[in-house]
Amino acid sequence: MTVRTRIAPSPTGFLHLGTARTALYSWAYARHHGGQFVLRIEDTDVARSTQDSVDQILASMRWLGLDFDEGPIYQMQRLARYQAVAEQLIASGHAYRCYCTPAELDAMREAQRARGEKTHYDGRWRPEPGKALPPAPADVTPVIRLKNPLDGYVTWRDLVKGEITISNGEIDDLILVRPDGVPTYNFAVVVDDWDMRITHVFRGDEHVNNTPWQINIFRALGAALPQFGHCPIILGDDGLKLSKRRGAVSVTVYEDAGYLPEAMLNYLARLGWSHGDEELFTSQQMVAWFDGSHLAKSPAQWDPAKLAWVNAHYIRQADDARLAPLVQAQLATRGVKADDLDHLSRACALFKDRCSTTVELADWLQMYFVAVVPSAQDLATHVTPAVRPALVSLRDRLAAIAWNQAAIATALKETLAAYQLKMPQLAPAIRVLVCGRPQTPSIDAVLALFRRDAVLVGLQRI
Ligand code: GLU
Repeated sequence: MTVRTRIAPSPTGFLHLGTARTALYSWAYARHHGGQFVLRIEDTDVARSTQDSVDQILASMRWLGLDFDEGPIYQMQRLARYQAVAEQLIASGHAYRCYCTPAELDAMREAQRARGEKTHYDGRWRPEPGKALPPAPADVTPVIRLKNPLDGYVTWRDLVKGEITISNGEIDDLILVRPDGVPTYNFAVVVDDWDMRITHVFRGDEHVNNTPWQINIFRALGAALPQFGHCPIILGDDGLKLSKRRGAVSVTVYEDAGYLPEAMLNYLARLGWSHGDEELFTSQQMVAWFDGSHLAKSPAQWDPAKLAWVNAHYIRQADDARLAPLVQAQLATRGVKADDLDHLSRACALFKDRCSTTVELADWLQMYFVAVVPSAQDLATHVTPAVRPALVSLRDRLAAIAWNQAAIATALKETLAAYQLKMPQLAPAIRVLVCGRPQTPSIDAVLALFRRDAVLVGLQRI
């Protein structure tokens, strides 16, 4: 058996973090088993689906490196197939046409509520041996309903949650195809998973209650069941369901906020799965380890501080030449033009150790392109009368040397010696004047990346 997994986002917005996580699990599981990973676009909610969302989803998948072997397959291009399968189910006695109008259904539910019953479809168009059905009204386009078993149980061994059993008595005759010929989610999913020979379905646990219907449809079709794994929701750092209202939920937001894709993958992987105590691992390692075991049963909490820690690790590891264009793009969003990628690379090398995101890197490197404005307090604290004469002298020396780190270091040393100062007395003053803050990496290296005149102008401020 070839393992085949899929991710099936609805294109009604950006790629949600929860969907990205199930995409990652599906992808890793397929890759672990040398199988295939399929991308399906569930666009049957025509009113809310947009091409822009499809494009965003594809871009996020590409950014995360979740490459798929087939797709994107669009459900709205498969309407004829769903209709044909629905007809097949009618012919085999597993589905039927229901001519109830919305008004009748409302009245049915109203009466059930009045009797204190749980609302459900009462089966009035459900064919049974010996039952006389009303004549089909000519002016109503029917829906097609599943003839769900009336008794018994649906049981499956969930890859995440273990054995789950739901009574058929709790679920009614689901609509498979609406009057406009568009299938419902549960029906389209089954036809697709069947046609696409999907063997393992990872998805969010909001779909647990849909699974019994889906299993009954698979059975009615005589199709082999895939295995299901329902992953718990992701909680926000406030302990409530991660949602748009409570902070960022889309992958794109993190891309824009300066996170690296390998950090996102690593962090998302750990949010619901573990491999021993491993916290930092590559996607290749994950593929090697991800066999569908050790998936967490309880919801994980989104932890921005941990994500930042993971990202800081990957920023430190990243090639400077890779970081440079990312920082360039961050600077560009602020209207800061930084053309020299080689210069940016060298600056990234110097500052990446202290940054959690490329936004923080851009915050640092901006001083190389935009004049800094030191705060009055920093000036008062660090640019004291005790160091002023040394700063004037340093400025003169820097104006006269060859502009490179070694010469700058020599000029600094000579100045310290001449004024009997120690580096910790002088360096913060230089930093405040030139960089706008009192702490930076090694001052000679930091200065060497400035143009000489920018440093001289900064030191003029004393
Ligand atoms: N379109 C569904 C969703 O985004 C897919 C669920 C499934 O994987 O079956 O939740």
